[in-house]
Amino acid sequence: MKPENIADLIRIIECQIPRDVESALERCREEEEEGSISRQVLEAILENIRYARENGIPMCQDTGSLVFFVSANGMCSKIRNTIMEGIAMATERVPLRANIVDPFSRRNTGNNLGRGNPIIHFEPSPDGAVRAGILAKGAGSENVSAVTMLDPDRPVEGVKEFVVQTVRKAGAKPCPPIVVGIGVGGSLDEAAILSKKALMRRLDKPSEDVFTGLLEAELLREINALGIGPMGFGGKNTALGVRMEVADCHTASLPVAVSIQCWALRRISFEVMKDGAILRGD
Ligand code: SF4
Repeated sequence: MKPENIADLIRIIECQIPRDVESALERCREEEEEGSISRQVLEAILENIRYARENGIPMCQDTGSLVFFVSANGMCSKIRNTIMEGIAMATERVPLRANIVDPFSRRNTGNNLGRGNPIIHFEPSPDGAVRAGILAKGAGSENVSAVTMLDPDRPVEGVKEFVVQTVRKAGAKPCPPIVVGIGVGGSLDEAAILSKKALMRRLDKPSEDVFTGLLEAELLREINALGIGPMGFGGKNTALGVRMEVADCHTASLPVAVSIQCWALRRISFEVMKDGAILRGD
């Protein structure tokens, strides 16, 4: 894998929305009333997506901060260096907006790198292959995401209430229709990572765990019943989907994280072949 490969993949996610997300937006447009503002908003979003794809330009001015999920055995420093070079290259070539700043002085690093950036979550690879996912996360939706430690005595109701309350509070700020990534269990930090990882699962792929899949569907109905609608103009579609990842946790804890993602769900997964070639996934 070369830095050029990373820069190319970043260009793809910034300019080409995944097919499952575009299909979900098209379905939402058909569900909104003819002539309504919510339908016009969805038409404008879809037109924007087409324009970005055809002209090779980012679909939003906030090109996000880049989060990587890497599954590999060893080679972590080498992979990190390749990713960093790729991001610096993409910042110039795509181009990406320089989004990364010092948290206190707000001085911009200029190349989307910095202390703790890029964010890379490494995990061991079960079969030795190097696989990875990239998520470009905009700030408008990240800023209304939330994490909490719930009282574990009413787990299902507690999780549902926290998720719906987080979406209600977010309102129009995260550019709905949104995708809601939920992490339940693990620890405070693990729940947050799981909620981001949940956003990597396709919208047409419900959870393989039956209970989690039913909860995702139920939450989607409850969130859409809020009526926030596309860009907050009201309507049937506040969310395109809900994705949840679950891990076991301490008997006295129930960590829950909600990563809100705007309609511009920019993600890609890939595998690095033995000869270094990149095989694109979802
Ligand atoms: S929330 Fe998403 S669509 Fe809205 S400005 Fe940010 S990146 Fe763009």
